Amino acid sequence: MDGSLVNWEDAKVHVLSHALHYGSGVFEGIRAYETKVGTAVFRLEDHIRRLFRSAHLYHIKVPFSPEDLIAGVKDTIRANGLTHCYIRPLVYLGYGEMGLNPFDVPVNVSIATWPWGAYLGEDALEAGVRVKVSSWKRNDQNSLPPSAKATGQYINSILAKMEAIHAGYDEAIMLNQRGEIADGSGENVFMVRGRQLLTPPLSAGCLGGITRDSVLTLATDLGYDVREENLVRSDLYHADEAFFTGTAAEVTPIREVDDRTVGEGVRGPVTKEIQQSFFAAARGEIEKYRHWLDPVG
Ligand code: PMP
Repeated sequence: MDGSLVNWEDAKVHVLSHALHYGSGVFEGIRAYETKVGTAVFRLEDHIRRLFRSAHLYHIKVPFSPEDLIAGVKDTIRANGLTHCYIRPLVYLGYGEMGLNPFDVPVNVSIATWPWGAYLGEDALEAGVRVKVSSWKRNDQNSLPPSAKATGQYINSILAKMEAIHAGYDEAIMLNQRGEIADGSGENVFMVRGRQLLTPPLSAGCLGGITRDSVLTLATDLGYDVREENLVRSDLYHADEAFFTGTAAEVTPIREVDDRTVGEGVRGPVTKEIQQSFFAAARGEIEKYRHWLDPVG
């Protein structure tokens, strides 16, 4: 916290912290994997760059340099003795002035690391998940810009996630105000149509996912015809395959949308190939993508 290693039970904030009341924080979700070159963080620099972009949007001045935060992530992993983990950097408005004007409020930074398995369940990676298109629309570009990962924005995702769980599904997909697919509550959405791999463009209001970007590269290299295209819910019903991507969800097959099976209702061959390629890259098994790995040392 703020440059020091703090014991888990002492990692506390004041109840009058600005971010707790107004959602005025930005964060990242990152993973470290056990790789051929030891424990390594997947696309760490890209995540830290996105953190600074999110902060810029909200006029939050991060009181550390990107290099400091990169070192902080590695220090925290080492201090916890973790070989693979999830990593949560958070830049938040802390304890100071109350009220909406944030400019005199101190900015605090924390980095937490812990072991976190498959986000949507261990068997989800193979069996796939059941998904509901949410009645909640994704945050609009001109209200809470979806290109930023701000803590307060996630109350929108939580509405969608709760609705999906209450209705007996595993995850939600959110549409934008125009009715096009944006993303999952915490994942990007892909679908397969023959040799085509389709995903919504950033202008649809999805987050610029780092896993999404990795999969776009991997799939292009595997010879797929990769397209960023506006998609609607029925495109999912008619897709041959569909899957989520995300740091937490990694590459998770979608086997059903709104009670309709997607393709054969199982993890399809394209999803499987891309999933295997993603995990191989994350574990340092493909030389070409080694530059995505930042060894913890
Ligand atoms: N969309 C949303 C809304 C998310 O919260 C996330 C998780 N950060 C993603 C997509 C996937 O992004 P990434 O692959 O960078 O984790």
